[in-house]
Amino acid sequence: MERVFGAGIRLDNERTPALRNALRILPTPEELILPVCPWAQRQEWQVAQPGEQILPERAAALCEARGRAMCPPAGGTVTAVEARTMPGGEEWLCLIVEVNGKSAEPQETIRHKYSRIGREEILQAAAVTSLQDELDGADLADKLRRFVRQKTEILVCDAVCDDPYNTDALRALMENTEEVQMGLALAATACCGIRTMIVTSRAAEALAREAANLRQRIIVPYLDVTGRYPIWENLKHQAPFAGHRVGRIGPQACLRLLWAARLHRAPERCIVTVGGPALRETVHYSVTVGTPISKVLERCEQVESYRILAVRSAIRGESVLSAADTPVTQDTRCILAFPELPPVPRACIGCGRCVEICPSGVFPLYALRAMERGDKKRAEYFGLHHCVDCRACEAACPANIPIAARLMRAAGKRPQPVELWRNRREVRADAMHR
Ligand code: SF4
Ligand code: SF4
Repeated sequence: MERVFGAGIRLDNERTPALRNALRILPTPEELILPVCPWAQRQEWQVAQPGEQILPERAAALCEARGRAMCPPAGGTVTAVEARTMPGGEEWLCLIVEVNGKSAEPQETIRHKYSRIGREEILQAAAVTSLQDELDGADLADKLRRFVRQKTEILVCDAVCDDPYNTDALRALMENTEEVQMGLALAATACCGIRTMIVTSRAAEALAREAANLRQRIIVPYLDVTGRYPIWENLKHQAPFAGHRVGRIGPQACLRLLWAARLHRAPERCIVTVGGPALRETVHYSVTVGTPISKVLERCEQVESYRILAVRSAIRGESVLSAADTPVTQDTRCILAFPELPPVPRACIGCGRCVEICPSGVFPLYALRAMERGDKKRAEYFGLHHCVDCRACEAACPANIPIAARLMRAAGKRPQPVELWRNRREVRADAMHR
């Protein structure tokens, strides 16, 4: 079943090549940077110390208070315990590990270990392996418990890849279709057996064969959508989602849940899209969690030296301060290299594009003007509190105004750090093709 949506940012331009290229496997590097916890929480964690040997099947860090553990994706020797700055600027406690090559069991053993497993066991497995959902970096066990509290009715495995560059979710689903569905079934059990569905966004026609093949292998209800960013802001008002409480998790989170529930192991690898205008091509890599981003980029041919590196998304992502000191984590999703810094924000020209593109009915330019005059009541009248921080308006704004960040701050919501790296020229051009 296919859906098409009107307003928004067209997405297809950079997505097909990566899906057409084969998945590349990056060998585990000699050194891994393993994030344990935000620096502020470090007193709560017991961590392996320099000189200690660590193994994938044993916790290298433990927090009894939170019922969480960090199990390494590969065995090795801890060489340092130190703070590293993660994308977005937060400091995390990390273990620096010299790898000695012992890593987890191959994937196929999972299929043979499929037997009934209870809700609490599934949630416990997600907790003790500190699984994260790649969609939002959330702790997966907490997220599934929250879905139950919120009486979620439909659990969606979200492979929509709502981004101009990134298609990690679609690749993960295409490479592991059966395992993703097994993981989704476990997640549904953890959510007291709610309905499940897989939703994808079909990339360009060129991939019709892969899409058809995928459709044949999916046994759960399946929806294939084509539309403009932000797709979910439009989709949630349509059948079968309109009027229902919907919870979304990523295909890689489903895979990890299966891996943790079946083998009691933390995820060893994740799929990331690597691309952006500074690189010759956009490709998918399977990368060991903890691999420094610089090790991934070493494998990519640059057409221009990059000024900005971003992870997670080209529209809502965060910048990387140092590629050598920043690891690939469970929620990295994509690594995008941009050759230029975008132009500095200018004064609003009143073009109204932000109003046209907003999926939530906000009038951003009027709300901003009201805020500039200190008239919060009027800003609320123009939809201040309806902003979902999708940033479509920012991508469309010819004056490069960080609209979403200003509205989120005015609404008292924590804005994502204002990233000046968004390469507006590309994104903005798409938004105009309405
Ligand atoms: S898109 Fe930018 S320049 Fe145009 S009206 Fe909105 S804020 Fe002003
Ligand atoms: S960031 Fe907020 S104001 Fe801007 S398009 Fe999205 S919902 Fe609308």
